Order: sequence, then C-alpha cells, then structure tokens
Amino acid sequence: MRNIILFGAPGAGKGTQSAIIREKFDFAYISTGEILREEIKNGTELGKQAEVLINKGELVSDEIIIGMIQSFIEANNNKDLLLDGFPRTVKQAESLDKILSSFNRGEAKVIELEVDKDVLMQRLLNRAKIEGRKDDNEQTIKERFNQYDKKTAAVADYYKQKNSYISIDGQHGTPAEISVKLITVIENL
Ligand code: ADP
Repeated sequence: MRNIILFGAPGAGKGTQSAIIREKFDFAYISTGEILREEIKNGTELGKQAEVLINKGELVSDEIIIGMIQSFIEANNNKDLLLDGFPRTVKQAESLDKILSSFNRGEAKVIELEVDKDVLMQRLLNRAKIEGRKDDNEQTIKERFNQYDKKTAAVADYYKQKNSYISIDGQHGTPAEISVKLITVIENL
C-alpha cells in the first residue's frame, strides 16, 4: 500500500494536483486544510478553535491534526493514501511514521512541488479574488510562509534523511504539464 505525501508551501498547487491525479489513481485522499474549512463551515467546536488560528495564518495543534489522520488511516487501511497538507511539523511526521507502522503500511514517500516564494504570493493573491478564502490576504499569507519556514520546511529534511523524498518543478508549465511529471514519479515510486 502506498503512502504518498504531496508536499509544498502554501500555493504550490497541492490541491490542484491532487484533483488531477485522483482521476488517474484510486487513492484515499485527505486534505487537512479542507477538513478544517468544513468544520468551520459547520460551526463545530473544532471549527471555532481552528478558525481563529487559520485566519491568523498559524497552524492548528498537532494533537488535533494527528487525531484526524489516525482515524482517516484506520478507515482506509486497505487503500493507497494521498496526504495533502499533512505532515506540517516534524512532530506530525514522527506520529505518521508510528501510525503507518502500527498498520504495517511501510514508509511514507514525499513528493514536493517546488515553487518560488514570489510566484506563490502572486498565486495566492489571485486565488483570493476567485475563491475568497479568508486566509488568502497579504498579511496572513506572509504569516503562513513564516510558519512554513519555521515549522514545515524541516519536514522535507526529515524525509530526505530517510531517502523518501523527491521534488519536482511545480512552477514552470501548466497544471496539466506538471501533473504529467507527478504521475511519472508516482508510477516509479
Ligand atoms: P495552504 O497549504 O494553501 O496554506 P491548507 O488548506 O492546506 O492551505 O491549510 C490551511 C490552514 O489550515 C493552514 O494555514 C493551517 O492553519 C491549517 N492546517 C492545515 N493542515 C494542517 C496541519 N497538518 N497542521 C496544522 N495546521 C494545519
């Protein structure tokens, strides 16, 4: 069973690429950001807690996120997994390892979509006009980048050390062209 982490800074195209590759492969898919937005929309207790943090560009607590992933994997243990937006801290990555090994699923593989920061900012500001996500404003985006540099970039190093990391150019080319490269990588994992 494959455990694939689609990794990248905010705006790198994880959601877009996930949608394309899910048409080709039969993955059980989770986007932690999407689940949190759903919780906010439904006005749940978790949603209320998450909303404050998300609107500031900060991360939600590891405990909450790890709980979500644990139940997701439990419910989809017979399938290949595609994780989008998780893990975002080394603590989350370590917990994922434990969960995967408790289900005898083997190692996770990271595929990073690499995009320059100035292009990311531009993409997110454009998306703000189209989708109106509350965290897509310049101030919050800057804090999301800051959190990424402080907490999430180290996740790439964690998987590099285990030789479980591949990166592809997520900047040059159309989403369809980038997905061709991504599909090739997945087929050769
Ligand atoms: P993006 O990658 O564009 O920032 P996401 O939809 O993946 O967007 O996440 C939106 C927000 O949800 C993040 O800024 C963060 O506050 C929260 N979030 C999502 N996934 C995680 C996670 N694994 N750990 C902590 N917070 C998360």
